[in-house]
Amino acid sequence: MFDYMIVGAGLAGAVLAERLATKLDKKVILVDKRNHIGGNTYDYFNKDGILVHKYGPHIFHTNSKEVYEYLGNFTTWRPYEHRVLASVDGMLVPIPINMNTINTLYNLQLSCSQVDDFFNSKAEKKDRILTSEDVVVNKIGRELYEKFFKGYTKKQWNLDPSELDASVTARIPVRSNRDDRYFTDTYQAMPLLGYTKMFENMLAHPNIKVMLNTDYKEVEKIIPFKKMIYTGPVDYYFDYCYGKLPYRSLEFHFETIETEKYQPTGTVNFPNEHPYTRVTEFKYLTGQRHSKTSVVYEYPKEEGDPYYPVPRPENAELYKKYQQLAAQSANVHFVGRLATYKYYNMDQVVAQALTLYKKLSIETETHVNGYKLPALQDS
Ligand code: FAD
Ligand code: UDP
Repeated sequence: MFDYMIVGAGLAGAVLAERLATKLDKKVILVDKRNHIGGNTYDYFNKDGILVHKYGPHIFHTNSKEVYEYLGNFTTWRPYEHRVLASVDGMLVPIPINMNTINTLYNLQLSCSQVDDFFNSKAEKKDRILTSEDVVVNKIGRELYEKFFKGYTKKQWNLDPSELDASVTARIPVRSNRDDRYFTDTYQAMPLLGYTKMFENMLAHPNIKVMLNTDYKEVEKIIPFKKMIYTGPVDYYFDYCYGKLPYRSLEFHFETIETEKYQPTGTVNFPNEHPYTRVTEFKYLTGQRHSKTSVVYEYPKEEGDPYYPVPRPENAELYKKYQQLAAQSANVHFVGRLATYKYYNMDQVVAQALTLYKKLSIETETHVNGYKLPALQDS
């Protein structure tokens, strides 16, 4: 009898398996339908010996000391600050838009405060910021919005920014200084030996059994367990009873090139040309030295693995219905990007999983042999 069946060996599932096994001595079976652990962060050495990310570039960044230190128990961190250039008007310029972006694009020599004035002169102020169009146009005006955001967003989501929640493009700040880092979080680092190695360390406990190549629906009636933690798509769990939740997918095209370095930064974005959105060169991320280099092109698509929940009001409404069902499922906990239909970064998923672990550990402490301790008994 397992205490928990955990569905999904991505970050959400692995954090919970690790905590429950090592801290609460729970017996866990971790089931994943893929042939590997790590979920979407899975990395591996390709046939040329270059470390690549199977499901697109994953760069770790967080403001949470707790999350950074927790994962640091399973990996050494290699400091890495990601930088991105966007191909606009035949030039490669920094994104997030900063002082250098404006000066290069318009052949100007503005200072920091002049760049602020420039943005203010272009901004179309909105009374209410509801959509991904509003958020950008309100800050920097329509011209820059069209150069950097409109085409990229259409490609990525097959929606106009006006059809997406403000939170999507709000992920990308606008800066009047020279800071050209993609993220400004306190902790920015990559697992020194890769994500998969980090997962191997997390799951190396005798209380954790891993079962790959298995959809949990094939085994949930055969393997005895007391409670489930589910990290797959929430609509699949409930057999799509309210209809399918939209998730956006991607196709990844990998290429190894016979040169040491291919492009000037870790990622180059293409808002306006090509069917792909961005090209990422892994050696920047991993710090690996190799005479060749590997890149990945991301082609957005409708069908395929569910990678991105699509943040817009009608989807939030539909998710709410599934959320209500989930709340009624006493023996199942839903956690992670797919199960809670949230456009979460890795650190947010780890934080969400640690929060659930804390809740479960309090429940364990306050129950003895199936009885609530007197202080907590319902009156
Ligand atoms: P997942 O990693 O998706 O794990 C869920 C697991 O459940 C999967 O392994 C799946 O196979 C399994 N599963 C699903 N259904 C079943 C079933 N029926 N039976 C058994 N197993 C099942 N975040 C960052 O912080 N920085 C980045 O740079 C970054 N880049 C990203 C780039 C891309 C292209 C994508 C798609 C995401 C990126 N993210 C990034 C987000 C990051 O991938 C997620 O936040 C995180 O990996 C989610 O972890 P999870 O455990 O919730 O889900
Ligand atoms: N975005 C854009 N242009 C860019 C970069 C991002 O329009 O050059 C928008 C786009 O809608 C994208 C969103 O901002 O989906 C979030 O970008 P991010 O790089 O955070 O996406 P992720 O890494 O999650 O795919």
